[in-house]
Amino acid sequence: MSAEPSATRGSAKLRITEIFLSLQGEARDVGWPTVFVRLTGCPLRCHYCDTAYAFSGGSAMSLDEVLSKVADYAVSHVTVTGGEPLAQRSVLPLLVALCDAGYTVSLETSGALDVSAVDPRVVKVVDLKCPDSGESGKNRLENLQHLGTRDQIKFVISGRKDYEWACTQLKAFDLVTRVEVLFSPVHDQLEPTMLAEWILEDRLPVRFQIQLHKYLWGEAAGR
Ligand code: SF4
Repeated sequence: MSAEPSATRGSAKLRITEIFLSLQGEARDVGWPTVFVRLTGCPLRCHYCDTAYAFSGGSAMSLDEVLSKVADYAVSHVTVTGGEPLAQRSVLPLLVALCDAGYTVSLETSGALDVSAVDPRVVKVVDLKCPDSGESGKNRLENLQHLGTRDQIKFVISGRKDYEWACTQLKAFDLVTRVEVLFSPVHDQLEPTMLAEWILEDRLPVRFQIQLHKYLWGEAAGR
C-alpha cells in the first residue's frame, strides 16, 4: 500500500477514544514507552473485555490531528488499538502515515477483520479468540496467510478449556513456525502461575506474558 498525499490524508477522519503515553504492557515490545492511539468501536463483545468504554463515544479527529498529538509525546513506539481499530477504514492511511514518519508501529486487532491491507511495516498483534471469550466464532482464519514472523498471534486464556483449545490451534495451523505465539491469562480469572506451569509441563514453544500495565496501574483507562 502506498502512502497517501498529505492533502488526501488530511481529510481522513477517525473516531478516537483516547491517545495517551504509557509503557507497552504486552507482546514483543513490552516495557517500551509507547503512545497508544485507541480507536472507538468494536463489533465483538468478549466476556473479559477491559476496554468497553471504547465501544462508543470518542471524538472525531483528522489524521493530521492524530499525527500531531502522537508527535507531542516524543517517543518512537506507537500502538494503534481499540476497540477494534480495523473497524474504521481510515486506520489504514493512519498506519501508513505513522510508518512514513519513522515510528515503530504495532496494531492490536481482534482477528475478526481482514488484515490484508495493513501496511507491511506494521507489526500485527492478532488475537485468536478462545472459546471462553464468547467470540471464537468470529476468528477470521484467512488472516493467517497475511501474517509473517514479525507478527504475533495472541491467545487470551480464561482457563484449562481455553488452554487446551489454544494447544489444538497451535498444531492444526503450525502456528509456531509462522508467527510468534503469545499466551496470556485473563487478568483476575486465571492465575498467571497456573498458565506458566501448564506451558512448562507441555514444553510449549510459546511466549508467556502478563499484562504489565495492569500490575502497574490496575484497570485505569488511559494506562
Ligand atoms: S475485541 Fe477487544 S475491544 Fe472488542 S470486545 Fe473483544 S476485548 Fe473488547
